[in-house]
Amino acid sequence: MSLVQVVALGGVGEIGKNCTVVEQDDDIVVIDCGLSFPNEEMLGIDIVVPDFTYLVENKERIRGVFITHAHEDHVGGLPYLLNQINVPVYASELTMALMSNKLEEKIPVKQLDLRTFKPGDVIPAGKLTVETIRITHSIPETCCMAVSTKHGHIFFTADFKFDFTPVDHKLTNITRIGEIGQEGVLCLLSDSTNVDRPGWGPSESLVADGLKKVFATAPGRVLLTTFASNIHRMQQFCEVAGEMGRKVAVVGRRMEQNLDICNRLGYIKIPKGVKINLDEMPQYADNQIAVLTTGSQGEPMSALVQMSKGTYGRLQIRQGDTLIYSARPIPGNEGAIWRTVNRLFRQGCNVVYQSADHIHVSGHAYQEELKMMVNLTRPYYIAPVHGEPRHQHLYNGIAKGMGYPDHRIFTMEAGIPLVFTETEAHVGAPVACGRVLVDSSGTPGVPDEVLRDRHNVANDGLVVITIAVDPEHGELVGDPILQAKGLHGPEGLVDQAFSFLTDALANLSPEDLRDTSIIKHEAQDAVRRFISKRSSLRPLVLTTIVEV
Ligand SMILES: [Zn+2]
Repeated sequence: MSLVQVVALGGVGEIGKNCTVVEQDDDIVVIDCGLSFPNEEMLGIDIVVPDFTYLVENKERIRGVFITHAHEDHVGGLPYLLNQINVPVYASELTMALMSNKLEEKIPVKQLDLRTFKPGDVIPAGKLTVETIRITHSIPETCCMAVSTKHGHIFFTADFKFDFTPVDHKLTNITRIGEIGQEGVLCLLSDSTNVDRPGWGPSESLVADGLKKVFATAPGRVLLTTFASNIHRMQQFCEVAGEMGRKVAVVGRRMEQNLDICNRLGYIKIPKGVKINLDEMPQYADNQIAVLTTGSQGEPMSALVQMSKGTYGRLQIRQGDTLIYSARPIPGNEGAIWRTVNRLFRQGCNVVYQSADHIHVSGHAYQEELKMMVNLTRPYYIAPVHGEPRHQHLYNGIAKGMGYPDHRIFTMEAGIPLVFTETEAHVGAPVACGRVLVDSSGTPGVPDEVLRDRHNVANDGLVVITIAVDPEHGELVGDPILQAKGLHGPEGLVDQAFSFLTDALANLSPEDLRDTSIIKHEAQDAVRRFISKRSSLRPLVLTTIVEV
């Protein structure tokens, strides 16, 4: 009897680090390989990627990693996987171009086995096949994927919305999705990010009208910030600016790179003569200027944040500027975003971040679109992905409302496989799974104790104790030194901690003073206990023993 198994290494019970494994006998295909962003407790962490142990252990069986689209939560983990195993990676032309650009920064692309597909291609992967089907989302060339197994299709919606007036006029291949439904979908893994939004999401092309209204009343320059990957948004901004007789300058390295790639490959059409360099701006009046900029998430190094602080040399904000906030705050970034917005207001810039007109629309399906996807694919089993538990729970409610009984709805958890036999589905034995933290050093695998230390230092400061001993005679040499950094407590706390330390050391026998580990332990323990009793602070305490 042939088993088919689906296991998510990330992207279920969370939004981010999407990576799902489909297995049948000797064959494995991996759909997406993303990263997620750290929460506020992960100090100094830049990104989080899935633990790839399971893939490394089964590398011989992997027929390919198939990428649905070029968003970081679907591709950002690739360099960390490909550093460990070299397996074929499949992506559409644009997705490949956008992701290769980033891959190259970490790993020489020439060494990799990168293969490009066209939407509609059916790619053999051992005894499995992967069919790629065009679907609309907030980045061009997104594909949903049907993995055909012995028991039917495993259908990945990817991130999607049903946009019937997409900016590039490339429509979702609804016909083919319906046909796959007819052929038999064993399990639907559906985007659930916007499951709490009733109705039908607005089309991306509505944003043009929203932008026009802002342009019409803006007295000076118009700036717009969005995600550097939102190609259609950038195109619409350039078109509207051109219609309004304005020139567009682009600020932000990633945005410029993406625009260049899309321009070169023909995925964006900027009206002739509209784009100018930043240096050409002084030749034009303020009401002839528009600026596209990165920084929509309040990233500290971004041009927008620096402009808001008045520290961006190439462009200063001035009275009469208007900034359109054409993005959505990623949870965790709200504080940095609002601080940026407030600084901009203080400088006389009008920030439009909420509007009755569409200045931003989501790339993810609303409730009725999610139902339409179920209706088209008619899956036997159904499992929401790309969502936190609250999203999965709501989605399950929608599935029930469409007549799905409980035993055909699965709330997937990372690392727990869904196993399909010819007659039923059940939960399998867990596989290696978890999160790997990457800090600015770029070295993956920051351990929990490092995070704990960072947390202690960040919250309560650092205490360094230096003790000189003569191990031969078992005695202290001079007084110990106690230094504190970032520690703030009741008056005299550090002096009292020092006395407590000297008392504790005085109690040690000559025998104890011959053993550096005993001295270290006693000194640290005494200082820690004293400080936490007096102040409830828990600074990181470090002790150095100098033998003289
Ligand atoms: Zn996406």
